[in-house]
Amino acid sequence: MSKQYETSPILSDIRNVNYEDALELAKNISVNYIKTIDKRKVFPKQSVLDGLTVFDEDLNNKPEDIMSIIEKLDKYGSKATVAQTGGRYFGFVNGGIMPSALCAKWIMDTWDQNCALYVMSPIASKLEEVCERWIVDLLRLPEKVVAGFVSGSCAATIIGLIAGRNFLLNRLGYDVENNGLFETDKLKIVVGEGAHSTIYKALSMVGLGKDRVTKVPIDNQGRMRVDQLPCIDNKTLLILQAGNVNSGAFDDFKTICKIANNAGAWVHVDGAFGLWVATHPKLCYLTEGIELADSWSVDGHKTLNAPYDNGIILCKHKEVLVNSLHMIGEYIIYNENRDGMLYTAEMSRRARAIELWATLKGLGKQGVAELVLELHDKARCFADLLEQHGLEILNDVVFNQVLVHFQNDEKTVQLIEKIQESGVCWVGGSKWFGKSVMRISVCSYKTTYEDIKVSAMDIIRVANLLK
Ligand SMILES: *Cc1c(COP(=O)(O)O)cnc(C)c1O
Repeated sequence: MSKQYETSPILSDIRNVNYEDALELAKNISVNYIKTIDKRKVFPKQSVLDGLTVFDEDLNNKPEDIMSIIEKLDKYGSKATVAQTGGRYFGFVNGGIMPSALCAKWIMDTWDQNCALYVMSPIASKLEEVCERWIVDLLRLPEKVVAGFVSGSCAATIIGLIAGRNFLLNRLGYDVENNGLFETDKLKIVVGEGAHSTIYKALSMVGLGKDRVTKVPIDNQGRMRVDQLPCIDNKTLLILQAGNVNSGAFDDFKTICKIANNAGAWVHVDGAFGLWVATHPKLCYLTEGIELADSWSVDGHKTLNAPYDNGIILCKHKEVLVNSLHMIGEYIIYNENRDGMLYTAEMSRRARAIELWATLKGLGKQGVAELVLELHDKARCFADLLEQHGLEILNDVVFNQVLVHFQNDEKTVQLIEKIQESGVCWVGGSKWFGKSVMRISVCSYKTTYEDIKVSAMDIIRVANLLK
């Protein structure tokens, strides 16, 4: 070998890593984390957070030993996590992680597949195809609906709005994909006043502007008021909601979608956590009529308890979606099998459908439905306990969200702070029609009725101290 060809001793060492020992250590740390998660405060103590300064160091010049990297991450990192995978985290709508998905994720991380194209990963392509079929069936959507696997509902909504925008403008004779939005007619964007903030972010990102929307007044649960709908026409992009982020309320899809369909509008449904109620016979009345929409965004990582990050864009018009996201390049070999990138904005992606597949397999059809119903029943139980002890519940608990008010705004905010400090459970705050509220989301399969009771009793205890 001539002198030009050199082997880096650093890379040589890395190639010779002792995987057995390193993965064994990672496994032991993970199992210990899972076993002790419910024994600690839900949000880390201040002293632990102060300890995070150990990470403020210059990057080492030479590689650090793999065992010491893992040990450091565990020693300072594990306890600085929020115990979202335990049973008493009710902040935001986060959800836990299904055991089957966690294990599948370990394996898929080892595979490290890029699921852009079939030729990059046949297994990822297959499981995307399978998950697409299963989810369309679970959510009772038309068979022709296609799915793209993205990082979350925010990403999914952006894609849904792009597809809707292009569909409406192309039908009016504009070639948006090639010519952009420069000379197009104006679209009319209609959203409910209770829309999630990501809707506005998505509108601004796709060139439709967040201040150009027509906002439809909402009722006292956050549902779009049908009697207040503006004129809907064939230039209208209408955004509905399955699961208000505060109250959990659902728009009247059946009535609104019929109006929209007759007018030739495009309907996108933001169903981040709520869409899954379609899977239970007792709760699917809430999503009646969703099949009449054109696109839907939904998360795997919330209600379904798939690991982060996991979102899905569903669209009834395959060619519109694919044309909106199309990319060509001489080195790109499209396949007769599924090429995942045709349905997403990204090219390279991790193969999230593998975790989704393991999540769905681990629950089964019945398990998904029972998970959804249990989250609902437990939210009702939580609300009942608090109400019996003098706290005020401001919403109809139609799904998994509970809005709690305590005496006045100031006391409510104080109560939330004290609960967070107490650490028995974690709840967040929000505003509901101008009032400060404690927002409880029951969204993990791990939560038991005992967890609900213990958490409610702690809230009541703290409330009594503040009286
Ligand atoms: C969480 C949420 C979103 C955003 O979803 P991400 O998965 O965080 O991107 C959008 N809409 C609603 C109603 C949500 O609850």
